[in-house]
Amino acid sequence: MAHKKVDQDVLKALETLRSLEAPPFILETALSESLIPIASASLIRPRAKALMQLFDIFSNFAEVRNEDLGLVMAALFDLLVGLDYIENYFQNRITKHNNTVDAFVCGKKLFITFVNVCPQCLIENKGLVEAKGGHKPQSAHIGEASSQILMFLLSLLISKRSNEPAVNALVARKTSATIDAVLLFPQKHRILLGEIKASPLVTYPAMLSVPPTVEATILERHHEKANVRVENIKEVALVMQDGTALSLGHPPKGSNQSYLGWTYEHLASNLKSEHINVYIKNWKELYYMYKSGRTSREQPLKFFFTHGSGKPASDSKNAPGFDRTDDIKKATYQLIKISAEHLLEGGTKQISVGVFSNLGPTKHFDAYLKDILNVALFKPSQYGLSITDYKTPRVFWRYLYDAILTFNYQFFNDKVIEEILGTFLKPSPRAKDDQ
Ligand SMILES: [Zn+2]
Repeated sequence: MAHKKVDQDVLKALETLRSLEAPPFILETALSESLIPIASASLIRPRAKALMQLFDIFSNFAEVRNEDLGLVMAALFDLLVGLDYIENYFQNRITKHNNTVDAFVCGKKLFITFVNVCPQCLIENKGLVEAKGGHKPQSAHIGEASSQILMFLLSLLISKRSNEPAVNALVARKTSATIDAVLLFPQKHRILLGEIKASPLVTYPAMLSVPPTVEATILERHHEKANVRVENIKEVALVMQDGTALSLGHPPKGSNQSYLGWTYEHLASNLKSEHINVYIKNWKELYYMYKSGRTSREQPLKFFFTHGSGKPASDSKNAPGFDRTDDIKKATYQLIKISAEHLLEGGTKQISVGVFSNLGPTKHFDAYLKDILNVALFKPSQYGLSITDYKTPRVFWRYLYDAILTFNYQFFNDKVIEEILGTFLKPSPRAKDDQ
C-alpha cells in the first residue's frame, strides 16, 4: 500500500512538472524517482501529522507573541533536526546494539549529546570538558534529515503565508543527486530548483532519567560513557543552556517498534506555549551570540552548545546554514553547472535556480557572496556572438543566483520569485526582538 501511495505522489508531481513545461532533465530525474514529493520522503512520511501540528503550534506562537516568524521557523528547524538525531540514535541502538545506549555521564546525569562537550558542565559554567565520541549521526543521515525537514517546513510556510498555496516541493532521494530540491509554483507558472545547504545551529542534548537502582552502577563513571538498557529509561528530555528540561516522554517499548516519530508526537500533544517560549528564548540567545561575529573563545561558555563553535565541541565544517565557505563554493559551482548544461539553451525562462537553507550566510556574506550575486552567465559561442557584443539581449543570459531562500535571509534577482516569496518572511514591523 505504502509503495502505491509513493507512485501516486510521484505521478501527481510529474503532471505538475509537465504543466509547468519543465525541461527534460528535470522530468527524467523525477521519472526515475530520484526526485520525490516531500510528503513521500522517508523521514517525513511517518511523522507527517505530528510535523504539521508542530508547524501550526510554532507559527501560531510567532503570530500571537509578535515574534519574527523567520527566526521561530529557524528554531523549529533545529528542534526537529535534533529530535530526528535522538530518534535515529535510539533506532540504531535498538537494532544494532542489543537495546543498550552508551550515555555520557556527568555526576548523576546521563546524556546523549551531539556536540562533543559535557552539557552539564556548560550549564553550570564549570568548563569545557570533552565528551569523547558524541552521539552524532553519520553525515549521510544528517544531510538527509536536514534537507527533508527544511523543504517540508519551507513548503508549509509558502503554502500558508504566500500567494502560492498550491506550492509543491520535491527532494532528491540521494544527497549526491544533480538537483537537491525543486519548488513548484503552479499559479505563477514557475519552478525554483537548487542546492540545499542546510545545517542546524543547535541540537540540544537529551538527558535520560533512570531508576535509582540503575543510577548506582553508573555513578563512578563520571565524564565517561556508561551502558544503559533502553527499558530502564523512564524519561528522555531535551536540556537547554539555562538548565531547563523539555520532556520527550520515553522511547517506545519493544524491539520491533519504529522509532520514527515518538518525540515529535509527544511534543505535538504536550507542548504548551510556556515551553515554546523557553525554547525560543534559549535558541535566540545562542543565535544572537553566533550572529555577533565574536569568536568562540570570546563568547560565554554556553556558546559551545552550538555546531561549528570549534574544538572540542564541533569543528567549523559543521557551521550552521549557508555559512560554511566550502558550501558557498560548492553551491556556486553546482548552479553554474546546472545553468551551463541545461538552462542556457533558451526556452527555459520559467525556471529559476538558487540555494535553500535554514540560515543565511551570516559570517561569510561579505567575503564570499556579496560580489557574485549580480553575476550573470552567458555562452557567447552558442549564439554566434563574441564577448565584445556586450549589449547581449536578456534572453541569452541568466543570473548565476536567482534566489537564496532561508528563514532569516532572502535574496532575489528573479522578480517573479521575489513576488511570491519576498514578503512573508520579513519581520513584521511590530517584531521587537530582532536586532
Ligand atoms: Zn560534566
